[in-house]
Amino acid sequence: MDSGGVNMESVRMRLQAVRQRIVQAERCYGRSPGTVALLAVSKTWPTSAIQVVHQEGQGIFGESYVQEALPKIEALQGRDMEWHFIGPIQSNKTSTIAQHFAWVHSVDREQIAQRLSAQSQRVSPLNICLQVKMGDETQKAGVDVSDQVTLRKLAHAISRLPHLKLRGLMVIPAPLQDFDTQRHAFRRVREVFERLNEDGLDLDTLSMGMSNDLEAAIAEGSTLVRIGSAIFGERTP
Ligand SMILES: *Cc1c(COP(=O)(O)O)cnc(C)c1O
Repeated sequence: MDSGGVNMESVRMRLQAVRQRIVQAERCYGRSPGTVALLAVSKTWPTSAIQVVHQEGQGIFGESYVQEALPKIEALQGRDMEWHFIGPIQSNKTSTIAQHFAWVHSVDREQIAQRLSAQSQRVSPLNICLQVKMGDETQKAGVDVSDQVTLRKLAHAISRLPHLKLRGLMVIPAPLQDFDTQRHAFRRVREVFERLNEDGLDLDTLSMGMSNDLEAAIAEGSTLVRIGSAIFGERTP
């Protein structure tokens, strides 16, 4: 079966392969089975492909662009799906994001957090990850991982806002690195995560690892990997 340029059978097979990689990595790096969640990143893919993945028991999905995500979320309404926003946040989109998503992984300034909190009409708090970046200029978004002062200030500020629950940190390191370099980046994020918890924050989520670096991320404590192309196929730009 083929739909919207997506081969459904290969999506099913790739999803199985990704699940296997996660199980293997948990085993290999001494992580308890089932402690790494899979977020299926469905940006650029049609609802038909998302449905196939959902039918295979996948419940959480990530999208990066509000305009693209809304029609898909609406078309799939009523299904047991949880939507995570993982893209850059424009301040004029915070209300829509707060309304349609259960999680936001890409918060890197207090003003955005304040708007999400003020505009959230949800019963349960909106789950937030603070986005950090490695100091290598490959990413614009995020607070620099070495900027302890800003990280602590922002984390505490977010944790005090009503209607939000600060869950942890998210990072998108540079692609195409060798395993040890990948691991080193993830380790620095894990160290920040641990320091914030020693500081009294009750964080439980390390959102790190994508199609090409999920093993290194799991080795360094990731609790949620965000996987797009390894499930759905290569995106055409
Ligand atoms: C696109 C995207 C992903 C998925 O990347 P793949 O390499 O396709 O797995 C994960 N996280 C974020 C923030 C993304 O924008």
